[in-house]
Amino acid sequence: STQIQLVRRPVGTPTPEDFATVTVDLPALDDGEVRVRNEYVSVDPYMRGRMNDSRSYVAPFGLNETMTGGAVGRVTESASATLPVGTAVLHGYGWRDVAQGPAAQFSPLPETDLPLSVFLGAAGMTGLTAYAGLKRVAGLKEGDVVFISGAAGAVGSIAGQVARKLGASRVIGSAGSAEKVALLKEKYGYDDAFNYKDAPVRRQLRDLTPDGIDVYFDNVGGDHLEAAIDRLNTGGRAALCGAISQYNDTERAPGPDNLGNLVTRSLNLEGFIVGRHQDLQAEFAERMTGWLADGSIVFDETVVDGIGNAVGAFLDMMNGANTGKMLVRA
Ligand code: NDP
Repeated sequence: STQIQLVRRPVGTPTPEDFATVTVDLPALDDGEVRVRNEYVSVDPYMRGRMNDSRSYVAPFGLNETMTGGAVGRVTESASATLPVGTAVLHGYGWRDVAQGPAAQFSPLPETDLPLSVFLGAAGMTGLTAYAGLKRVAGLKEGDVVFISGAAGAVGSIAGQVARKLGASRVIGSAGSAEKVALLKEKYGYDDAFNYKDAPVRRQLRDLTPDGIDVYFDNVGGDHLEAAIDRLNTGGRAALCGAISQYNDTERAPGPDNLGNLVTRSLNLEGFIVGRHQDLQAEFAERMTGWLADGSIVFDETVVDGIGNAVGAFLDMMNGANTGKMLVRA
């Protein structure tokens, strides 16, 4: 099996030298184990945090160990009655072309008309993040004006459309290129959008939201969060999903300069981790597979070929090369 390992903890922006590609001989299956040929492997922003040796909600990656994370594939060999050969599965063994382990580590996926990759994106973890963040954390209600940063990525491209489904009256997004801004407006359900690289976020958001915003879904942090706190109306809510603008920082970023608004406008900013909202999974899966099947929610993927290119795919994703979910075809 070809596998990608972390061999050095990155300082600042990771480089290819922080990783190594290794070939591992897989032993014969033990009783109860399965072997899976991966089709798609996920690269995700949270992995940057796991490359550091610091306390977080998920343990750091081990050095000289294979990068773990979401992947989908099919069982090619089975010593388990529960997962026969051919079963499509989701698992957490990550950056490798072939995964092997106890059947309990692999979750069977429903057979649908959708490609398996969708269970890593729109119908998977990033889709649930958008749904749980808007519905439960931000308490999105009919008529809300919603702002979403990182809007053309895996979470953001679904979040705009979900906001619409949940009754938002207006959805504004930000992303890092003119092409992405066009997609937000033409494809992902955004009423208006801006390129955060064009001019200060504070100014651009103010100009697009004359009546303020009621909900902010934060994928970016920093200047985006500060701008949103300016624009949140009384009783406004923010779901703090991520702060990708700071993941490669070597020094702590200064906080927003306008936290006084939290008091004067009774704002509620709440951080969340999707893993703590798994109880929404069944409801999400039913609604999202319906929306994807009837075409009322669309999704994009940026696919890089070959497990040997996983590091490049991860680094490119952190730099904004992706539209929708970034994936590696294993
Ligand atoms: P994306 O598909 O959105 O990929 C990351 C994107 O971040 C890039 O495409 C790039 O787009 C953007 N970006 C990179 N640097 C910056 C910057 N300095 N300022 C603004 N944008 C930047 O990734 P995901 O959808 O998987 O994740 C989006 C966010 O959600 C991340 O913060 C992630 O950590 C978080 N997340 C949180 C979860 C939770 O449980 N709380 C679960 C899943 C994700 P662009 O071209 O627009 O710059």
